[in-house]
Amino acid sequence: MGDLRRGFYFLSNILVFSWVNRMVREKKEGMIPKEAQKVLQKRFKDLKNPVKIFVFTKKGENDQLTAPLHQFTEELMELTKTLSFSFYDEKSKEASTFEVTHFPSMLIQPDHYAIWYVGAPFGEEFRSFLDVLQFASEQESHLSKESKQHLQQLSEKREINVFVTLACPYCPGQVLHAFQAAIERHDIITAKCIDASEQMSLANKYQVGAVPHTVINDETISKGYESEDQFIQELIHLQPMEKTTPVEDSEGQEVHVDLIIIGGGPAGLTAGLYASRSGLQTIILEKAAIGGQVSITPQVENWPGFSSIPGNKLMDMIAGQVREYVPVIQGEEILEIKVGKHIEALSPTKRYTGHALILATGATHRTLGIPGEEEFYGRGVSYCATCDGYLYKNKSVVVIGGGNTALTDALYLKNLGAQVSILHRRDTFTAEQHLISSVEREKIPIFWNTEATHIKGEEMVTMINILNNKTQKKDTIQTNAVFVAIGEKPNNELAKMIGISLDDVGYIHIDRFGRTNIPRIYAAGDLTGGVRQIVTAVGEGASAATSAFQDISQ
Ligand code: NAP
Repeated sequence: MGDLRRGFYFLSNILVFSWVNRMVREKKEGMIPKEAQKVLQKRFKDLKNPVKIFVFTKKGENDQLTAPLHQFTEELMELTKTLSFSFYDEKSKEASTFEVTHFPSMLIQPDHYAIWYVGAPFGEEFRSFLDVLQFASEQESHLSKESKQHLQQLSEKREINVFVTLACPYCPGQVLHAFQAAIERHDIITAKCIDASEQMSLANKYQVGAVPHTVINDETISKGYESEDQFIQELIHLQPMEKTTPVEDSEGQEVHVDLIIIGGGPAGLTAGLYASRSGLQTIILEKAAIGGQVSITPQVENWPGFSSIPGNKLMDMIAGQVREYVPVIQGEEILEIKVGKHIEALSPTKRYTGHALILATGATHRTLGIPGEEEFYGRGVSYCATCDGYLYKNKSVVVIGGGNTALTDALYLKNLGAQVSILHRRDTFTAEQHLISSVEREKIPIFWNTEATHIKGEEMVTMINILNNKTQKKDTIQTNAVFVAIGEKPNNELAKMIGISLDDVGYIHIDRFGRTNIPRIYAAGDLTGGVRQIVTAVGEGASAATSAFQDISQ
C-alpha cells in the first residue's frame, strides 16, 4: 500500500494473530492473553468512528467456527466500544437483505460497504481484519493517489472474490487490495475474502487449488499475491495484466533515505535493524509477504533458542522488533535500480533514493519443467505447502524433492491429515537426519530413484506419470496434488540489471562483509548462495548493514 503508517498497524497484527490461530487450532475458548489485549486496545484507540459488524451463522454449516466466533467477538467488544457485532441466523431479515448464502459470513460496516469474510477472519486473515476495521472506521481506503485516480474511471460493477486459507501469509495482502477498492468505490465494488478450506463448494466452482486465488466478476483473474498497482489495473480491465513499469515522473513521489534495503526476509529485516540502530535512516521494501521463504516454512527446528517454531511466528517476532526501528513497506516492488551520485530504486509509483542499497531479495522455488506442471499450477500443483495444504487435508498428495523443504512439507501435510508420499530422484535424502527420522517415524511412503515425468488431470490434478531412473520402469500415481519442493533459484534480476558479479548458478558474489563489486551496493541472505540458512541470512544482513554504515560514514 506504500504508506509508512502501515508499519505501526502491522506491529499490532503481528502480536495478536498467532494467538487467534492457536485458539482456533486447539479449540480453546480462553481469554485473549493480557499482552495481546494491550496491543489491541492501543490499536482500537485509533478507530475514528464506530464500526458495525454483522455475523451470520447457520446451524449445521461450519458449526466448529460458531463458538470461537462468538467468543472472539465478545472479547473484542470488551476491549473497545467502537466495534459492535450483531449475530443473525440464516432465516433473519438481515440475511435475506444482504443475500447471505454461505456461513459463517461476516460483513464489515454493511450499511456503507460490501466487505465480507465468508468464513472467520482468523489465522493470517486477522491481519486484513484489523486493517480493514481501521480503514472502514476512517472511511478512507489508503490506496495510492494513482490507484484512486484509476478507480475513478470505473463505471461498471465489480464483484471480487479472493479465496484464501488461514495459513497463507500472502493472502491478507491480496484481500486488503480488494477491501481497499471496495472502500474507495463503495458504490460499485463488492469484495469478499473466502476461506477456501471451509467453503469447498465455492472453491471447487472456481477450481481453487492454490491461494490467494482472485476471481472478479466470475472470472479467475490471478493466482498469487499482486502489487496494488497490478491488482487495480486488473480490476479495471478484467484481465490478467503484465507487470507495470517503474515510475517515470517522480514529482511528489520521492523518498530519500540513507540506506534502501530491498527484501523483507530474515536478511533484509536484520540489515534494517542493524542499520537503523547505527543511525542510518533506513527503509525496507518488500514486494510480497514479510518473512520471505521462512514465513511459509511450517516448522523451523534449527533456530537457536527454539527447539521448534513455526516459520511465520519466528518471522513475526523478528519483524515486530525490526518495525520498532525502521519502516517496512509491504507490497512495494522495486522494478529498476539506477546507480549514480545517489542510488535510486524505482517502484511503479515511487522513487527511493539513498546513499547505499542492500539487496536481500532471496530466492524463489525451482520448477520441474515437465508437461502439466504449468497447466495445473493452482489446480493441484503447488509450491507452498503452508498456503495450500489445507485444500488437500483429506486427500492424497505427492511431495517431490529430497531436501529440508520437501521433508518439512511432507510432515506438515501428513499432520493436516493428507495421505502423503514423497518422490525423490536419488536413493538418499539430503535433508537433516532429524527430519529423515521424523519421516520414517510417520511411515510416509517414499518412491526412491523416481522422477515425475508428466502431471495429468482434468479440471484438477488426478495423477502423475513416474519413471524409476534405475530400472527405467514407468508407472503412474493417482494423486490430488503435487507439492514441488526441489530447491530454489536466486532472485537476481535487479542485480543483473546493474551488472553485479554473479557465480555460475546466479548467486551474487560478496566479500565477507557483504560488499558486491559495485560500491555502496551490498547483498545478504539466500541471494548470495552458500548454506542458505536463516541464521546465516541474519548474519549476512548484519554484516552488510555494518559495511554500509562504515562506507556511508567515511
Ligand atoms: P535443496 O536442499 O537444494 O534440495 C532440493 C532437493 O530437490 C534435492 O533433494 C534435489 O535432489 C531435488 N531436486 C532438485 N532439482 C530437482 C528436479 N529437477 N527434479 C527432482 N528433484 C530435484 O532445497 P530445499 O530443500 O528447498 O532447501 C533449500 C535451503 O533452505 C537449504 O539450505 C535448506 O537447508 C534450507 N531450508 C531450511 C529449513 C529449516 O531451517 N527448517 C527448511 C527448509 C529449507 P538432488 O540432490 O538430486 O539434486
